[in-house]
Amino acid sequence: MELNQLRVALDGPSGAGKSTIAKAVAAKTGLIYVDTGALYRTVGLYAYENGVATDDTAGIIALLDTVDIKLTYRDGVQCVLLHGEPVGDRIRTETGSVYASAVSKIPEVRAYLLDMQKKLADEGGVIMDGRDIGTVIMPDAEIKIFMTASAEERAKRRYREQIARGLDVNFDEVLEAILARDKQDSERDAAPLKPADDAVIFDNGPYDVEGSADYIVGLMKRYLAE
Ligand code: C5P
Repeated sequence: MELNQLRVALDGPSGAGKSTIAKAVAAKTGLIYVDTGALYRTVGLYAYENGVATDDTAGIIALLDTVDIKLTYRDGVQCVLLHGEPVGDRIRTETGSVYASAVSKIPEVRAYLLDMQKKLADEGGVIMDGRDIGTVIMPDAEIKIFMTASAEERAKRRYREQIARGLDVNFDEVLEAILARDKQDSERDAAPLKPADDAVIFDNGPYDVEGSADYIVGLMKRYLAE
């Protein structure tokens, strides 16, 4: 087996840097990067655009009969299509995060998105980032990582990111939002955020993106050498 045929499951809480680090690993190894959060965000966006409230579970489930979501790749970059249109950054707002977390609690939503993710997992050569990749989507992945960083560290990064984007944000509010999402994601019944029994726990607090990516590539190389 080659480096670019491995399946890497990368789970962890919001803001731990999973997507940035997974992209760096993909660039170093030739794996395809799959951002599964984008799928939940797209269901959330559809609910929001249809005026369905975050706590209207029946309303959200009803939307699944009409929604059309496709996961495609353009020049190697993931592109989620909602009714044929790329969702782009419309899923990246704070409202988008709140809606994604709300819809992802619903088992019917998870079931709706399961096949798409399983199909990509079966093809191999992927690094998938999410919450239940090592436990549900790719329980047989060659490499499983549960990536964490303290809530303060994650809030600090998100705060800096939003300030750099010219947004007027308050650190305590950013921290509070992160803690609320952690709680919601880990306490839900359906596929809660938790490490797989055989996952490597990686606290990336002391590392930068390059160092974190190298750590993961190191795990992959070690797997192949064994
Ligand atoms: O990773 P991201 O922050 O984009 O994910 C948005 C939300 O989607 C998360 O807060 C989580 O509730 C949900 N999610 C999930 N399972 C995944 C990926 C994301 O429940 N595999």
